[in-house]
Amino acid sequence: MILKIVKYPDPVLSKPGEPITEFNAELRKLAADMFETMYAGQGAGLAAQQVGIAKRLAVIDLSSGKDPAQKLVLVNPEIISHEGRLYETEGCLSFPDIMEKVVRSAKVRVRAQDLDGKWFEMDGEELLSRCFQHEIDHLDGMLFIFRMSALKRDLVLRKIRKMQREGTW
Ligand code: ZN
Repeated sequence: MILKIVKYPDPVLSKPGEPITEFNAELRKLAADMFETMYAGQGAGLAAQQVGIAKRLAVIDLSSGKDPAQKLVLVNPEIISHEGRLYETEGCLSFPDIMEKVVRSAKVRVRAQDLDGKWFEMDGEELLSRCFQHEIDHLDGMLFIFRMSALKRDLVLRKIRKMQREGTW
């Protein structure tokens, strides 16, 4: 089922997610719906906050649904180490048509649970590293505009306000 994607400035996007403690059918259904929603929106990652649920669950697929082996579900994820620096353009499904450069770590190691509650660790570099950081930020209630320079953020917020006035946001 395709869920409604919540757009900035919906307050749920600023809410830190509650840890997930029950690994049941409901959680599986939510993760499956989030993949479907993410593919429909042509995104590479989606956090539960973006479908209006402040819980620590995110899905990632850098293949856009073409390669099932690249589907990643992160339950209660955390970054346990990071190194290097990247400065690349990012977008976010909660900020349609906004693309800006953001500073991220080049490489991160993530610890998370899968849908059965089993803990695993995984390294991400380049695009995957950025995706991990972007989605885990969402779970902490942190948005990518707050990783931009103040100047860029002001420009983006002004653009959004203009679109809101025009009824196109
Ligand atoms: Zn996002």
